[in-house]
Amino acid sequence: MWGGFRCDVPRSRGCFCVSSRAQQIPAHRGRGPMKPIRLILVIAFSCPAFSAVAQDLLKSQPPVWAGQPDITAFEKLENKHLAQAQSSIDAIIAIKGLRTIANTLAAYDEAVRHINSAAYLAGLMEQVHSDSTLRDHAMAMLSKASAAQSSLSLHPRPGKYSHAAMFQVLDGVRGKQLPEAALICNFPAPAATEPGLNDYDDVETFFHEFGHLMNWILGGQQRWAAISGLSPEMDFVEAPSQMLEDLLRSPNVLATFARHYKTGEPTPAELVKRMNRASTFLRVGKTAQQNGFAAISFDMYKSNPDKLDPDAICDEDFHRYLFLRMSPGTEHFYASFGHLAEYSSAYYTYMWDKVIVEDFFSKFNPDDPFAGDAPVRYRRLVLEPGASMPASELVKNFLGRPQNMTAFKQWMNAEFETTSAGD
Ligand SMILES: [Zn+2]
Repeated sequence: MWGGFRCDVPRSRGCFCVSSRAQQIPAHRGRGPMKPIRLILVIAFSCPAFSAVAQDLLKSQPPVWAGQPDITAFEKLENKHLAQAQSSIDAIIAIKGLRTIANTLAAYDEAVRHINSAAYLAGLMEQVHSDSTLRDHAMAMLSKASAAQSSLSLHPRPGKYSHAAMFQVLDGVRGKQLPEAALICNFPAPAATEPGLNDYDDVETFFHEFGHLMNWILGGQQRWAAISGLSPEMDFVEAPSQMLEDLLRSPNVLATFARHYKTGEPTPAELVKRMNRASTFLRVGKTAQQNGFAAISFDMYKSNPDKLDPDAICDEDFHRYLFLRMSPGTEHFYASFGHLAEYSSAYYTYMWDKVIVEDFFSKFNPDDPFAGDAPVRYRRLVLEPGASMPASELVKNFLGRPQNMTAFKQWMNAEFETTSAGD
């Protein structure tokens, strides 16, 4: 969704997950202090100008810990980092005027640096300290650091928008203003007993919203704000977002970032193939359901408000597309159909754009979507023009013809294939 619209994605648990910021903490545990030291030495020996700086740093920055840590000193150090992080976060929130690299990104980086410092050490102590009481304190401190991370993160928290969406922040105007947008998401937050793993559906949601973001950013270099970013046509805005969902079908794409949080093992290609195969189950039924939702949104819109009977519309349209009748006690479906307030009659855009997306994706190598000239052509011809031309022109420029149903039908029929060819 975009502009405050929601993504309703069913949740399930999987073993192979994407590391969130907090999940990277365990990966650092085994090789914690060595890597930065080596890095400093390499730089010191290879660059004379840097050498003096590194030498100064080595003098002013003793090892994080020397001797036997005790609980009081450990917690003092941890709380100091977290207090410094909080003061950077407070500074970001307090800004009233123009946000700049200096007043926002630098403060954000400081907050991340201090939270990471607290989390790394707490993670190490929790794993190795000989005193079980200190290990317990370390675990509590790790939880506190995770909570601090949540205030900067895509995790849920009280009072926050509870779905997933891309929100526009600034229009892009060529030579005058860079486009800005924010992703608001609610992925599992890490806790002391649970590292906050993202499952496949979370990643799909992230890719979907990231697709909107890329559309906004790459399309935000027009001469006029009014034609910057997303297509002015409501029934094209869900194409760039659903395009990125398709990337996840490639094991090669997943292998670049989705790893088992303990072993570091990439998601096995065979598992991805089986997941792709499983994802075809009920595809036709879900498509019919989407058509039912689209019909409800349109029928609500075209009805005379004085005589509008939303329950009757839902019942009729569900029966028409899904052969179902609303059971007694399940009426008022429309009251939880959030898109009615935002997409109005245009809920159909999801299926309409899915047809376009499958057509687009048929020009990509499904095993390696970054191969060939399709990715660059897609960027140049579909994303970068932003709202400067009609969506039908974008489609024709990329496909060399108007969209058709061929690829979409193939995608639908994958449910009935007896091999895994629909992967
Ligand atoms: Zn969307």
